[in-house]
Amino acid sequence: MQKDIKTEFFKINDPSDGQKELELAGKMIREGGLVAFPTETVYGLGGNALDPSASERIYKAKGRPSDNPLIVHISSAEEIYPLVSELPKTAVSLMEAFWPGPMTLVLKKSDVVPATTTGGLSTVAIRMPSHPVARALIKEAGVPIAAPSANSSGRPSPTKAVHVLEDLDGKVDMIIDGGESDIGLESTIIDLTGDTPEILRPGYISEEEIKKAVGSVKQDPALFARPDADAAPKAPGMKYRHYAPKAKMFLIKGNKKAALAEMQRQAQKAEKEGKKVGILCEKEDAALFEKYSCFVLCENENEEEIAHRLFSLLRETDKAQIDVLFSLSYKKGRLGDAIENRMLKAAGYNVLEAKDEL
Ligand code: AMP
Ligand code: MG
Repeated sequence: MQKDIKTEFFKINDPSDGQKELELAGKMIREGGLVAFPTETVYGLGGNALDPSASERIYKAKGRPSDNPLIVHISSAEEIYPLVSELPKTAVSLMEAFWPGPMTLVLKKSDVVPATTTGGLSTVAIRMPSHPVARALIKEAGVPIAAPSANSSGRPSPTKAVHVLEDLDGKVDMIIDGGESDIGLESTIIDLTGDTPEILRPGYISEEEIKKAVGSVKQDPALFARPDADAAPKAPGMKYRHYAPKAKMFLIKGNKKAALAEMQRQAQKAEKEGKKVGILCEKEDAALFEKYSCFVLCENENEEEIAHRLFSLLRETDKAQIDVLFSLSYKKGRLGDAIENRMLKAAGYNVLEAKDEL
């Protein structure tokens, strides 16, 4: 990889132990530099959200299309006011219920926010993260921080600082290592610019929880549709191939017994064709796939574990040079929508339906 600049690397587990480094990082952001930092969802690639040239540097470092807007991160709720032209009541209810935390609100932007940060849109996406290092950095910078996930565009999002280093060494000024991201999947994005709050990207905060907080919510109908379907997703980034491992990935649907049997059949077939086969599976099913490379997602369908490990495991399949990768689908439970959405994208919408055995 071509290295354009020297990337500084700091470890900060707790803001009180890293005050000097945080001051340096804050100054770097104020002066137009790029700093990758930990959040509870995934690592972010941060720059001054109010500086168009910083946003341009972010798109370039990631290789991200410039029509794919950046999420603006703030360190306390009142920092939202200068960034938006109106704040509906639903926004206040959602902020009270879920901030700081893994929820992003899309609102009408004020003139302070440059069009480069919002990919040319008249709306802006805003989040207040809960990770103490993220919040301390934003406070230290003294400006809101635009931060997409800190991966090269198209690759799985980073949940460890080492993932950021793999993708962005030599392309950013600084990486702050704050340990592994707790959640492992990106925030839930809710658009509040229409009549009813609309989920543009499913995440850790579920549809059910949002409904409890604001009464009604809908989902962007394009969320689980193939990207070539008629309706384009409303979050511009959702139309791009994302999270992709180098392997060709297949998601196998159907009742669990039939899906596992289909996975065995497919794995055997791929192996006969000379392919290196990888399996994403639960610990208790790993024995069925002993002769392949197994990557354990969780025990007993534990969704929190799947969310926490998925992106990291996809990167491991690259390192293991897997050619074909199979996983069951986990579209159930509180995190089912978020996991399914990421897995479908990782698999480029390759889905196999397992037939129930008679
Ligand atoms: P990332 O920061 O990499 O998690 O990606 C941010 C996601 O938020 C992308 O899918 C963007 O398209 C989406 N997003 C950011 N700003 C807006 C906005 N103003 N309206 C709709 N989607 C947005
Ligand atoms: Mg991303």
